[in-house]
Amino acid sequence: MFQKKSVKDVDCSNKKVFVRVDFNVPLKDGKVADDTRILAALPTIQYLLDNDAAVILASHLGRPGGKKREELSLKPVAEYLSHLVNTKVSFNDDCIGETAKFAAGKLKFGEILVLENTRFHIGEKANDPTMGKELASLADIFVDDAFGTAHRAHASNVGITEYLPAVAGLLLEKEIIYLGNTIADPELPFTAILGGAKVSGKIGVIKNLVDKVDNILIGGGMANTFFAAMDFKMGDSLIEPDSIKMAKELITEFGEKIFLPVDVVIGDEFSDTAKYKTMTLGDIPDGWRIMDIGPDSLLEYEKIINRSKTIVWNGPMGVFEFKPFANGTFSLAKIIARSSAVTIVGGGDSAAAVNDAGLSKDITHVSTGGGASLKMMEGSILPGLEALDDK
Ligand code: AMP
Repeated sequence: MFQKKSVKDVDCSNKKVFVRVDFNVPLKDGKVADDTRILAALPTIQYLLDNDAAVILASHLGRPGGKKREELSLKPVAEYLSHLVNTKVSFNDDCIGETAKFAAGKLKFGEILVLENTRFHIGEKANDPTMGKELASLADIFVDDAFGTAHRAHASNVGITEYLPAVAGLLLEKEIIYLGNTIADPELPFTAILGGAKVSGKIGVIKNLVDKVDNILIGGGMANTFFAAMDFKMGDSLIEPDSIKMAKELITEFGEKIFLPVDVVIGDEFSDTAKYKTMTLGDIPDGWRIMDIGPDSLLEYEKIINRSKTIVWNGPMGVFEFKPFANGTFSLAKIIARSSAVTIVGGGDSAAAVNDAGLSKDITHVSTGGGASLKMMEGSILPGLEALDDK
């Protein structure tokens, strides 16, 4: 259960509040190319402004490797943000040191200061205590709203919590409620839908969920290893020989709750111009590979989804980047969006598919974190969450 304090549990008025946001956005020609993450941080920022806090925002951007790199500056993000809020947004070209202290010192309540990329300092990823302390010295309260980095212990999300009251922002709170509490205590029937390239990447999730769910629907490349375990010939399909034994064990032990595609779309090469055809599950001809789940599988999965009360989805059903093999993933997104269940979509590719299809408003919770959401589904305790103050 959500036992961490949130920004609503502390008095932020007339306080300097340091917010770790996820402004790791794509830039093109020095401009913000996708503002999803900036928009996702707005509720917490607006809440703090409405409560007369002085808001200091910090984030990483890309992988500068501990050095200042102009093309990974957060300045364009600060500029972008200034058009979204109704207050002054200033920028400081370092996140620690004298200039940061000076800028934070003169920041007025109800205004925003954006600090430069935290990863311009080697101490960020090393979770160097000196850096954590310097960041903390800028503010009275620490708010973490960066779910995407919650599975890492860095100075700006974990180190800093040693020195300040530390609470979750509104976005982080929502992530914990759905990916933590709902998954731990779901309304039944509970169905997990797992896809993506490799079964090896999802073993932790399967092991954590298999006792909690009523159904696990499998798609994507990871289904192939299960088919290989059932002794089908797999043609040129992606399989993981080292995971076949584990797939066999899972089928033997949990066969009645694990569902595999009953038909597949195969392609004669790994490209978007490949020849393709749909076939009932069987031996895959040489020279062909499984690239997507087929329409009958979608019908089967739809029936199970429609009788579920809680649904969690992580990983595409096929190579959705190629148009001929995108149907499984996008149709599944539509089926989930139509469901009246509590629907949770893990970050990364499945979240991208839901967003691209314009369906995110019909999903209860679309996670903003790829690796972090996978870790939550594995039942891991994320260092960034553990470090926050208990309720
Ligand atoms: P993951 O990061 O493990 O969730 O995998 C996502 C990737 O899985 C996407 O880039 C998909 O193109 C890929 N994928 C899905 N289905 C297949 C498949 N049948 N064969 C190969 N790759 C696949």
